Amino acid sequence: MALVSAKEMLEKARDGKYAVGQFNINNLEWTKSILQTAEELKSPVILGVSEGAGKYMTGFKTVAAMVKAMVECLNITVPVALHLDHGTYDGCYKCIEAGFSSIMFDGSHFPIEENVAKTKELIAVCKKKGLSLEAEVGAIGGEEDGVIGRGECADPDECKKIADLGVTMLAAGIGNIHGKYPADWPGLSFETLAAVKAKVGNMPLVLHGGTGIPTDMIKKAISLGVAKINVNTECQLAFQAATRKYIEEGKDLVGKGFDPRKLLAPGAQAIKDCVKEKMEIFGSVGKA
Ligand SMILES: [Zn+2]
Repeated sequence: MALVSAKEMLEKARDGKYAVGQFNINNLEWTKSILQTAEELKSPVILGVSEGAGKYMTGFKTVAAMVKAMVECLNITVPVALHLDHGTYDGCYKCIEAGFSSIMFDGSHFPIEENVAKTKELIAVCKKKGLSLEAEVGAIGGEEDGVIGRGECADPDECKKIADLGVTMLAAGIGNIHGKYPADWPGLSFETLAAVKAKVGNMPLVLHGGTGIPTDMIKKAISLGVAKINVNTECQLAFQAATRKYIEEGKDLVGKGFDPRKLLAPGAQAIKDCVKEKMEIFGSVGKA
């Protein structure tokens, strides 16, 4: 199956009261683990690529070529969107050119007028090419490629302004943050989420920073209109723990345990387990 825009899968999720996971990729193992799990569970999936990860993988062209080829070689039949995560204005154009099927323009750090103008322009380009576009209002806390936010709550009126431009999905800050949540984190602001939802109507909402949000909060957020949840750090932590265990147990010193295909296998399995757990919580299993 060719890569698809995230529009249809998110509209189905919104109507069916579940969420599609966006899982960020870093390399071949990551991509393979996520695609295989989505196929096994018959779940739609969004592969997220940050600008930093794109650079790490030598460029967006490499990423798009790898993902397209892998979808074909693994006979993936579930809908897969390849999505730029927190794109800059220039990064969006690079990904459109490289063959991504979805982009996020993160103009949340611009004054609202400039965010509106740039988002408008990118919407027109994406519409022409059949790509989905995610916009963000209200900076999401934590660190994302060096940009540190505090976990603000978005202004519902600004959300409406951006939603009305015709974006496919909207990320609104509701106290969520990237990375690990601090022990004194007050939790998601459902008040903000409900206020945003009331203003933006049918627009599928996106929850960033899905790592470590308690399951009951995730489910409540989905019931209030969240249709896409981003997971990144959690897969990294799962990979790290499994790889550490393999080395600490001295398995890399036994036989051909040094072979990267053996060395990286426990980490790859840990990513699969993590993605499976999330898809079950999000309710996307069997929806493809
Ligand atoms: Zn994010």
